[in-house]
Amino acid sequence: MICFSSIYLKSMEFTTAEPFLHKGLLQSFELTKYILKTNVYPREPSPLKELREVTAKHPGNFMSTTPDSGQLMGMLLKLINAKKTIEIGVYTGYSLLLTALSIPHDAMIIAIDPNKETYEIGLPIIQKAGVEHKINFIESQALPVLDKLLQNQKDNEGSFDFAFVDADKENYLNYHERLLKLVKVGGLIVFDNTLWGGTVAQPEEAVSEDRKESRRSIIEFNNSVSIDQRIEIALTPSGDGLTICRRIR
Ligand code: SAM
Ligand code: CA
Repeated sequence: MICFSSIYLKSMEFTTAEPFLHKGLLQSFELTKYILKTNVYPREPSPLKELREVTAKHPGNFMSTTPDSGQLMGMLLKLINAKKTIEIGVYTGYSLLLTALSIPHDAMIIAIDPNKETYEIGLPIIQKAGVEHKINFIESQALPVLDKLLQNQKDNEGSFDFAFVDADKENYLNYHERLLKLVKVGGLIVFDNTLWGGTVAQPEEAVSEDRKESRRSIIEFNNSVSIDQRIEIALTPSGDGLTICRRIR
């Protein structure tokens, strides 16, 4: 019999406050719970489960990448045999650890976040999992780091296989422009929260004040990538919406 973790059992209570339950496009906690229960939690690597449980005790736990999105990203990373990756927005490191677990021993991740304190919450679990050597954590806002990488064109332009963006929504288009130069043709850039709690499909007046600005940025981002001829896209309803962009030119 499958033994589910305490966080999973907690999620059975099924409240809207549950950090890992996003209704996404399904708009149903029942279906989301079904997906997690049958297909995601039973296959979640134990270090990720441990990190998820530690993160659940932190007040910002709702920010963690959802395990179903993590499962999809892990498969994408393996499908393209990603070796050189970038992550913008680390928090306690759920998506970072899943990336580190999904790429080869000699692969690397540049992980950028101005908040080192939250990264350090997950770090002992990353170390215990034996993947810390793959991570170059940079304590900084992401834009100057990306610009610096682009200054060294020869080494960096078109050299990355994969990027994951899960930080300030107001900069998604700025990240997109820079990452399109850094990621190789055939590489992937994945953006999280592109449904923004379903608010992208709601009239602005129905949205709470604190969500309005990011909602506008996400709508602008979604509109822009939908006509961007340099990429192929798939907006999947996983978690809070995951837009997968594949660079084609
Ligand atoms: N991917 C993470 C995970 O799986 O746990 C969640 C990331 S959380 C949603 C967003 C993170 O973005 C926060 O840790 C925050 O400090 C970081 N952040 C905010 N502004 C940023 C910026 N300008 N550049 C880089 N990171 C930023
Ligand atoms: Ca997110």
